[in-house]
Amino acid sequence: MINSASQKIIIVGGVAGGATAAARLRRLDEQAEIILCERGEYVSFANCGLPYYIGDTISERSKLILQTSQSFYNRFRIDVRVKHEVISINRYSQTVTIKNLANGETYLESYDKLILSTGALPINPIQEMNYIRESAVAKTPEKYFSLRNIPDSDRIKDHIDTYRPNSAIIVGAGLIGLEMAENLHKILIDVTLIDSADQVLPQLDIELASEVKTYLEKNRVEIELGCSIKKMVDKGIHLEITLSNGRVLETEMLLFAVGVRPDTYLAKNAELALNERGYIQVSEHMLTTDPNIYAVGDAVEITNFITKQPDWIPLASPANKQGRIAADNICGINSRYGGTQGSTILKVFDLTIAATGIHERTAKRLEIDYEKIFTYSDSHASYYPGASKISIKTLFNPKTGKILGAQMIGKDGVDKRCDVLATALRFGATAKDLIELELCYAPPFSSAKDPINMIGYAIENVLTKRVRNIHWHDVADLPRDNSVIFLDTRTMDEFLNSHIAGFINIPLDELRERLDELDSSKTIYVTCQVGLRGYIATRILMQNGFDAYNLNGGFRLWKSIIG
Ligand code: FAD
Repeated sequence: MINSASQKIIIVGGVAGGATAAARLRRLDEQAEIILCERGEYVSFANCGLPYYIGDTISERSKLILQTSQSFYNRFRIDVRVKHEVISINRYSQTVTIKNLANGETYLESYDKLILSTGALPINPIQEMNYIRESAVAKTPEKYFSLRNIPDSDRIKDHIDTYRPNSAIIVGAGLIGLEMAENLHKILIDVTLIDSADQVLPQLDIELASEVKTYLEKNRVEIELGCSIKKMVDKGIHLEITLSNGRVLETEMLLFAVGVRPDTYLAKNAELALNERGYIQVSEHMLTTDPNIYAVGDAVEITNFITKQPDWIPLASPANKQGRIAADNICGINSRYGGTQGSTILKVFDLTIAATGIHERTAKRLEIDYEKIFTYSDSHASYYPGASKISIKTLFNPKTGKILGAQMIGKDGVDKRCDVLATALRFGATAKDLIELELCYAPPFSSAKDPINMIGYAIENVLTKRVRNIHWHDVADLPRDNSVIFLDTRTMDEFLNSHIAGFINIPLDELRERLDELDSSKTIYVTCQVGLRGYIATRILMQNGFDAYNLNGGFRLWKSIIG
């Protein structure tokens, strides 16, 4: 589509959102003059790949750079200006002031349309700390880092190559913190993860986050939750770190991965509308409050696809989509952004962790009507080599069965299950839809009842009251005065190995013959290892006139948090 021969578009920021917008603009408008200004040295680089470059999984630095100024020009005839910072937007003259960072000169450039894809900056908590550099080391390089771009990764790599640290502290147990923990561990650096939250990974609820924590610890990553750094003293070879819990640690490098804040000083100074956290407010067309200025990516407030509330979810896929939408609208195509659902995935050692939609904390905070279900399914037919369990927590509307969010972890097949659920969520799927999904099956890939179908069945059982669940956090509140029965339906060996205090054991396969051991006037709370045998037992009991509830997620889930 050719929109206007005279259209001049300036894009600020040349990575995910900006580079996508530039390429789409050119594909739509062969005549437009397109200028892309990037403050840094590189455009269109793979910031998501940086942890893997530091950990030597990606061995060639050049692979991180997907386009250069020259390749952009060759392919798209886009005027890419790296080391050029846009320092102000002059809305009334429709010009921007640009500073050439190579020579310090500033100049004006006019625009018909402007796209801001200025991204976010890592939060640096050093100002809030008591940070002391002992006089003898005042001139040596800093030992603390953050990771956002290629120069950041160069600094980290140089430090590692020069000083060969044996230990590192990572502050922040989110996505980047965990990816870096794996990658530093891979190059033989002992890692301690510190987070002020009481769990790792804010994308997960406590149940799966606890599993991830245990897994990290098994892989020799030390974890300190619920604390922060109070004092940091640079002693030359090492940093001495005092935590808020009083513990003193020594480390040779420290990485801050505590999240990002939007880089929106330009938009703020131009008096575009920002929310209270500094994110740029945009319409569904990605238009700011100025009719000639669009904004996309990590810098903007978006609508959460599930809650329909304003939100900010800094991820690459939304930034790319929004860049394309801004370009479409500039070229007269009425494209709209439908909201972000927060589909996230990461690999930590050989574990895959993925989530889409909302988690329970959000549902509670926004008072969204929800119920939850835990399922543990094999990644593929159990008789075919290599199958492993996927732990899945799914949130759904208890009246309609509509899926609100899911999170899962496992060693195999997690990515495709989370992508199926992300797709299902996008189309407003209910539990019934999950049951009806006909997914590809052969033993190396799945089971005839895929884990996604199993979620649908499990939810349907709840909705139709064929099973009534209790959850791990309900156990402590149940009466302990003999007025109810606690029944563990695992094998005797499993039971003797470990069980919840107060439970009696009748293995599932013996239950039908031993019903007379149970007092039918008492409510029975049933458990097993992960909830499946408990469900079958609950069905047997209910059909024999007992009032029975199943502990969803079973002993395994209860123990991972309480035990
Ligand atoms: P950015 O990609 O940050 O680009 C903004 C650019 O604008 C910057 O290069 C900046 O220099 C430039 N800029 C800012 N102000 C100016 C100015 N005034 N003038 C000129 N230039 C300016 N997301 C995922 O979905 N999956 C992942 O696995 C994942 N992994 C990640 C790993 C790491 C280590 C990091 C740092 C991020 C990761 N992300 C991941 C997040 C993802 O990279 C971002 O969401 C995405 O890059 C946002 O795109 P953006 O265009 O909004 O901002």
